[in-house]
Amino acid sequence: MPASRLARKTERWFARNQRPLPWRDGYDPYRVWVAEIMAQQTRMEVVLDYFGRFLERFPTLDALANASDDDVTAAWSGLGYYRRARMLRDGARAVRERFGGTIPRDVETLLEIPGIGPYTAGAIASIAFDEAAPIVDGNVARVLARVFADESRPWTRAKELVTTAKSPRDFNQGLMEIGALLCKPRNPLCRACPLRDDCVAFSTGRTSEFPAPKKKPATRELRIVLYLVTDRRGRVLMRRESGPLMNAMFHLPHGDTSLLTGRPLRAKNAKLVGSFRHTVTNRRITFEVYRATRNAQRATWVRPTDLSTIPHPSYVRKALQLAGICK
Ligand code: SF4
Repeated sequence: MPASRLARKTERWFARNQRPLPWRDGYDPYRVWVAEIMAQQTRMEVVLDYFGRFLERFPTLDALANASDDDVTAAWSGLGYYRRARMLRDGARAVRERFGGTIPRDVETLLEIPGIGPYTAGAIASIAFDEAAPIVDGNVARVLARVFADESRPWTRAKELVTTAKSPRDFNQGLMEIGALLCKPRNPLCRACPLRDDCVAFSTGRTSEFPAPKKKPATRELRIVLYLVTDRRGRVLMRRESGPLMNAMFHLPHGDTSLLTGRPLRAKNAKLVGSFRHTVTNRRITFEVYRATRNAQRATWVRPTDLSTIPHPSYVRKALQLAGICK
């Protein structure tokens, strides 16, 4: 099938069906960059929830470049993968220092910026600047694998296609949107797909064969005990912990466990409030939340209303919500 026909169909479909996402309003390169980093390994509904608040806090590249580790991690709290946030800030600093604050438009120069790999470079170049740069995320890879009934060369195919596009911006986003909205991992909505006449997997009834299932890492089940210790003013005892998975953030004191690496709390008068499930990569964790009284430990008292100003992982808010301490 001619690449240009496929590109045209994708662009036309995108022009009519695109979702009104905030960074599509004007395609400001800084906003596109933030959105692309947020969207990696995160569902779109979650990104939309955080994007506006992050941009309010850091409305310009300069504001982000000035942010401390704590500021940027606090604004990212709940999104996970906190290293991405700090790398984004480091990237903003590099753009200010090396490129006078102007985000470069070509892939080669973008790749010189810390935290920007081939995917993000392609996304910024094509979506913000309409340059003919390929991008392959999970959605694009799935669409291409099915259209060609071959998943061996997604980047080569994406490059061939984007160079024939009238608007690389619309084409790349179109492929991503088709992957997200129609060409779903299971039960793709082929009847509504603009590419069905050219799709080999559809015409041969083999959509379920592409992409071939990958072996998932085994899931680990864990149980972690958390302690909610409050003072008379309603403040919550928290501790800043470093080490694997702690990310130098503020955590609730916890019981002995092999996962959370900080010092366990020897709690007194512990009373069970309830439990909730929380997933972090391949770990399925059951948090058991107890009200307890304080024993002498070095710690910080945090007002629940100040939670959004300190870096904390998302399980903390879930635990406080379970106990009715915050909304
Ligand atoms: S026709 Fe079906 S399998 Fe092919 S790209 Fe469209 S949604 Fe995916």
